[in-house]
Amino acid sequence: MQAWVFHGPGQDLVPEERQEPELRGHDILIRVEACGVCRTDLHVRDGELPDIPYPIVPGHQVVGEVVAAGNDAPIAPGDRVGVAWLGWTCGRCSQCRAGRENLCDAARFHGYHIDGGYADRMRADARFCFLLNRELPAATTAPLLCAGLIGFRSLRLAGEAERIGIYGFGSAAHIVTQVARHAGQQVYAFTRPGDDKAQQFALELGAEWAGDSDADAPCELDAALIFAPVGALVPKALRDVRKGGAVVCGGIHMSDIPSFPYADLWGERMIRSVANLTRKDGHDFMAMAAEGFLTPRITTYPLDEANQALADLRSGSINGSAVLVPRP
Ligand SMILES: [Zn+2]
Ligand SMILES: [Zn+2]
Repeated sequence: MQAWVFHGPGQDLVPEERQEPELRGHDILIRVEACGVCRTDLHVRDGELPDIPYPIVPGHQVVGEVVAAGNDAPIAPGDRVGVAWLGWTCGRCSQCRAGRENLCDAARFHGYHIDGGYADRMRADARFCFLLNRELPAATTAPLLCAGLIGFRSLRLAGEAERIGIYGFGSAAHIVTQVARHAGQQVYAFTRPGDDKAQQFALELGAEWAGDSDADAPCELDAALIFAPVGALVPKALRDVRKGGAVVCGGIHMSDIPSFPYADLWGERMIRSVANLTRKDGHDFMAMAAEGFLTPRITTYPLDEANQALADLRSGSINGSAVLVPRP
């Protein structure tokens, strides 16, 4: 099999021919049909997450076909699966037992602790994979498995909200906009200052308003979702939301948050982060996706151009989601 590998922080991906991994117990071997590119992959590249066990194959938004299965796997060869970020949890700690396996201290994540989907084959624990309909197109389904899911969880944690500000209009934002619009909520999109293309894109997807992230919101917002890894957006978003409103940070890594007056937090405003996902999130969201109203806009790259895809994501030149497709 072929895999694209990070060997250390700050290094580009390198292709490697590898033996197919051995399957134990609940493992399945997946032929990767498509793998979404996520900002987290850039954080792994740049060494911005703690204790990355290099060498590591990134990729945690995988759609593929099961080609082999361990004896105890609840999924069989021929099945179609989705692989998301959550790769394994202990099932025994207080967080796991309380239905918060996303917060398990022992959790392992695909493309971070477990080799991921920047490859033509990958191994996964079937108990953490999602069975998918065979008819779903691989490339447009892949971004739902992280960008879609994290957006979905962020929106849930924002609580009751009619007017939602979205800060950073990339992969997650463009999918959560579709979820919010479908639910009848209004979206106000904040992009990098001067990014007319992203603002136009947000309006096309049904945003009420789109503008620069340093501009005042055109009205008081009920909640804010921040997807850009820019800490300065937190106090900005806090000033945009009404009393009792939530600012939800959807990224795994963010630059430091500048200090701000307590008065901006006063009035029961909230700041919270979203960490990972639970399998329940995955099942709930993929059931919503099966209704067919979510259509991620994608730019596909052959797997061989994974470094280019990451560079394009970093420069902000991708509208929507980048997706890697191995040669069949
Ligand atoms: Zn991701
Ligand atoms: Zn646990």
